[in-house]
Amino acid sequence: MPLKTTLKKQGWYHTSAHRRWRKLVLQRDKICQHCKRKPATEAHHIKPLEDYTDLALDLDNGQGLCWDCHEETKKRGRKIPAGVRVIKA
Ligand SMILES: [Zn+2]
Repeated sequence: MPLKTTLKKQGWYHTSAHRRWRKLVLQRDKICQHCKRKPATEAHHIKPLEDYTDLALDLDNGQGLCWDCHEETKKRGRKIPAGVRVIKA
């Protein structure tokens, strides 16, 4: 079973630790780090969760994105689009 499925099955996405990580990422970034126009509503894992589980709650691995840009990252096979500046806290 893929790790992501396992994490989902275990309810990781609903843990308080994940909710806190997401909140901190969005509080830090506020504006979408890709388009820099829309408010950040999605906390994106820069390094994919299924490959870097130890970074799952690392704020440096989180990036606030708007819904549209977050959807784009999924379409592009999880790669960060060129030109995106990753800002560290
Ligand atoms: Zn955006």
